[in-house]
Amino acid sequence: MNSEPVETRFHGMGVSPGIARGPIQVMRDELEEVDRCPIDPSQVSAEIARFESALVQTRIQILEMQQKIAEAIGTKDAGIFDAHLLVVEDRTLIDEVLRKLEAEHVNVEAVFHEVATKYADTLGQIDDPYLRERALDIQDVMRRVVRNLQGKAPKMMPLPGEAHILVAHNLTPSDAASLDRDRVLGIATDLGSRTSHTAIMARSLTIPAAVGLHDVTEQVESGAMALLDGYTGLLIVNPSPETLSYYGKVEIRQSEVTKELAELRERSATTRDGEHIVLSANIELPDDVTSVSAHGAEGIGLYRTEFLYLDRDSLPGEEEQYQTYRRVAESVRPHPLIIRTFDLGGDKIAGGIDVSDELNPFLGWRAIRFCLEHPEVFKPQLRAILRASELGNVKLMFPMISGKAELRRAIEMVDECKSELASAGIPFNTEMQIGAMIEIPSAAICAESLADDVDFFSIGTNDLIQYAIAVDRVNERIAHLYEPSHPAVLRLIKMVADAAQKHNIWFGVCGEMAGDIELTPLLLGLGVDELSVSPALVPRVKSAIRGLMPSLHRSNPSMCAIKDRVTPLRLPLLDQSLA
Ligand code: PEP
Ligand code: MG
Repeated sequence: MNSEPVETRFHGMGVSPGIARGPIQVMRDELEEVDRCPIDPSQVSAEIARFESALVQTRIQILEMQQKIAEAIGTKDAGIFDAHLLVVEDRTLIDEVLRKLEAEHVNVEAVFHEVATKYADTLGQIDDPYLRERALDIQDVMRRVVRNLQGKAPKMMPLPGEAHILVAHNLTPSDAASLDRDRVLGIATDLGSRTSHTAIMARSLTIPAAVGLHDVTEQVESGAMALLDGYTGLLIVNPSPETLSYYGKVEIRQSEVTKELAELRERSATTRDGEHIVLSANIELPDDVTSVSAHGAEGIGLYRTEFLYLDRDSLPGEEEQYQTYRRVAESVRPHPLIIRTFDLGGDKIAGGIDVSDELNPFLGWRAIRFCLEHPEVFKPQLRAILRASELGNVKLMFPMISGKAELRRAIEMVDECKSELASAGIPFNTEMQIGAMIEIPSAAICAESLADDVDFFSIGTNDLIQYAIAVDRVNERIAHLYEPSHPAVLRLIKMVADAAQKHNIWFGVCGEMAGDIELTPLLLGLGVDELSVSPALVPRVKSAIRGLMPSLHRSNPSMCAIKDRVTPLRLPLLDQSLA
């Protein structure tokens, strides 16, 4: 009988590019059984001492993780652990454990497990994303404390000495912080989407990652050999000799390409017929700014400001925002920094903001809709951006604009802020460019009427696609229906391009579509002036731009024909299309 292991492929979403190969390490989240054993009343004080020392040990572990992640990827992500520290110090929780211990005379790990589970379950059942997050914090800390009481090593540390592909249901911030980037070759998770915490962390750490692999943790075992393709989101367990040989070639090509691309760092994103495209980077956190010039981007085309504030209890004031924006603006000047005003709501909820649960959050009270109704949140941000505009090439754009009245009202609020700053004698750039994100079909269709009011359009294809073809961008079940080159999406983009051209304003694309080099010819053919992509994708998009001749294709009026004609011009760098 043939006992050769059979190759099995799991399909998910590639969210952090690269190929990884190695043995799998499955991280299963559950705690092993916590035994409940009666104790003698005389042992209670010893149990309390054990409990106290487990809390201290847990606190030290959390502080160490906080330190580790602050060094690896910046202080904001490390701030997530403040919530965990609060759990270890929570008097209500600790006092209830002590009371129960005195009353019931059972071992402390069982008591703590019961009390903490009760707290987490209660919070988890409340229909509020913030409280659900806190429930996860309690569970995370509870597992650590129980393991410390049991004298077991924390779940993630030490990992096996061998480098491995980590397979998990979902990674919590504390799991991600425990990752040893030299040993974690790749990440594969059951859950997740491009905007999930796992994806954000993986990209920051430049670890190839695939998410949305459904129940892969139930189907694979630690130790099995696997290949992870972070471009296409494939996890291949027990790869066949053919697959290995295929990916061997891919990896050789990948390292050649990386070397070739690194040489482009100082070169400009100019097409073969001399057209310059502004190729900029998207950032989520101020610390990401270092990777912008490192990858040869020409400034920042999308700064998602709301990310800075998602794990806090209160929104920052004008001064704190000003200091942050000016630091980012100064580091990229003379290149542009396009600051997108808060896109809160939907899947992004900040502490201190009461966005009650909604049936359809992506169609709900988010972004500009929320800001216009909350001038006490919006105006400090606008003033901070205006003040930073004095110190760099700052531009501002509004997310989720759906029509003219909304855009006008947002601009009026900028004008009010300008008057307030002028009368207080505070300097700002009176000529600062203002743009509208075009990410709702109504805005694309009415782009002509919006163009009069702005200096530029930036197309947010992530949202535009989900709204145009009614495919939830974070739902892994229907991810196969999420089609950037759907004719309806292309028509909407064409409408925006035509409106921009007619009204003599520039337009860019800052959604994920801008980083898909198969679509670069199409976007250039439509006349895009700027592409803004995640920093690691800048070199390959630059290379694609440098190989194209858009003037040739523009002479063809049919968009489909444009696509057909440019296909032969694809560079041999289309690593996204491999596999
Ligand atoms: C988009 O929608 O394409 C976009 C760039 O914004 P976000 O992904 O933050 O919604
Ligand atoms: Mg968007």
